[in-house]
Amino acid sequence: MSEASRLRAEFPLLAANPGLHYLDSAATAQIHRTALDAVAHHETHRRANVLRGSHRLAEAADQAFDSARRSVARFLNARSADEVIFTSGATAALNLVAQAFGATLQPGDRVLISLAEHHSNFVPWQMLRDRAGIALDILPVGVNGELDLAALPQLVTDRTRLIAVTQCSNVTGAWTDVAAIVAAARAVDARVLLDGAQAVQHGPQDVQALGVDFYAFSGHKAFAPNGIGVLWGRAGVLASMPPFLGGGGMIDEVTAEKSSWAEPPRRFEAGTPPIAQAVGLAAALDWMMALDWATIHAREARLCQQMIDGLQRIPGLRLLGPEASVRRAPIVSFDIAGLHPHDVCQVLDHHGLALRGGHHCAQPLLAALGVDTCSRASLALYNDEADVAACLDAVAAAVATLT
Ligand code: PLP
Repeated sequence: MSEASRLRAEFPLLAANPGLHYLDSAATAQIHRTALDAVAHHETHRRANVLRGSHRLAEAADQAFDSARRSVARFLNARSADEVIFTSGATAALNLVAQAFGATLQPGDRVLISLAEHHSNFVPWQMLRDRAGIALDILPVGVNGELDLAALPQLVTDRTRLIAVTQCSNVTGAWTDVAAIVAAARAVDARVLLDGAQAVQHGPQDVQALGVDFYAFSGHKAFAPNGIGVLWGRAGVLASMPPFLGGGGMIDEVTAEKSSWAEPPRRFEAGTPPIAQAVGLAAALDWMMALDWATIHAREARLCQQMIDGLQRIPGLRLLGPEASVRRAPIVSFDIAGLHPHDVCQVLDHHGLALRGGHHCAQPLLAALGVDTCSRASLALYNDEADVAACLDAVAAAVATLT
C-alpha cells in the first residue's frame, strides 16, 4: 500500500468512496478520522459551555477548549496561546482585522492588498475604505498571476498601516514571497496580515519565522470541521485593538452606563465559541504535526508537475499560473477555449472526479488573467498518481465530448 493510500484510508469519506477522485481540497479538504472522533468524544463526554460554568462538565469543556488553543499555538509556533483567537473561519478572521485593526486607522491611512486576493481579503478592505476614509492600494500581478513585487516601493508609503496578502493563491497555487512583503512593511512600520487559508493543508506554519503580525485560516481546509477558524495576532498588536463584536465572554465589567474589555483573545470572542469544532481542529492539527512533511511535499510537487505536464498536452487548454520555476502548492487551474468550467466539471463528475469550476472568489485575479471563470484541480496529501491519471483522461474526454 502506498503512503498516499494509507493516508487516504484515514479519511472516512474517501474510505467510503473508493472510486472518488477528490481534487477539490482547496475548496474544502476532507475531514480526518481523528478530528471526527474528537468532536464526537467531546459532544458525548464534555459538552458544556465554556468560561462560565463551575460544574464538572463545564470545567472539562474549559480544559478541552484551552488545550485546543494550545494546539493551534504549537501548529503556528506562536509565542503564546493567548495570541490565538477562535473565529468561524478565515473570512471571519480577515473581517475581524478589517473591523478591529481598521478601527485604529485614521482617514488618509493606507492599506495595501494584492490583486491576487480571495474576495474575503478584498471586500472587507473595500468596505473599510468606504466606511472609514482610508485609501486602498492594490499590488498588481504579472501575466501569470504572481505578485508584482517590483511595484512595492511605489505603493508602500509612510501612510501605509497594513499590508494584507495571501500566503498562497487559491487559483494559481503560487506562494507569496512573504519575506519581501514583511521587509517592505517594516521599512514604514506597517503591520502584515497573511491569509494562510491555502497554506495550512500543506503543513504546520511558523508565524515567528514568517515575521507577520496577523495570520488567518479556516479549519475545514486543514482536515478539520467546518465552522471553526483562527486569527493569530502578535500580542502587542491585539492588545492595541478594540473589540469588534460585543456580547458575553468578551468583557471585563458591564454597568448600566458602560463596558470594559477582557484581554485578548477573549476580547475578540464574543458569545459562545465553536467549542467542539475547536477540539476537532486541535485533533487535526496535532495529527498534522506528527506527519513527515518533507515526503508529503515531494509527492505533492511530483503530482502537481504530472498534472501540469499532462494538461499542457490537451489541445485548446490554457494553464493559468506561474512558470515552473515558481514555488507553488498543488493547485492547477485551466481554461479550455469555448467550454464553460461548469460543463467541464459536470462531465468530470460523471467520471468520478470532484473539481471546482467558477470564479473561485477571485474575480480581480481572473480578470487580470484574461478569463471570467476557470476549472481547478487541487491536490492534498491523500491524492496519488491514479487521481492525476483519472483527471487527465477525463479532461481529454470532456474536451472530446463538448467540442
Ligand atoms: N482565503 C483564501 C486564499 C481562500 O482560498 C479562501 C477560501 O477558499 C478563503 C480565504 C476564505 O475561507 P473561508 O471560506 O473558509 O472563510
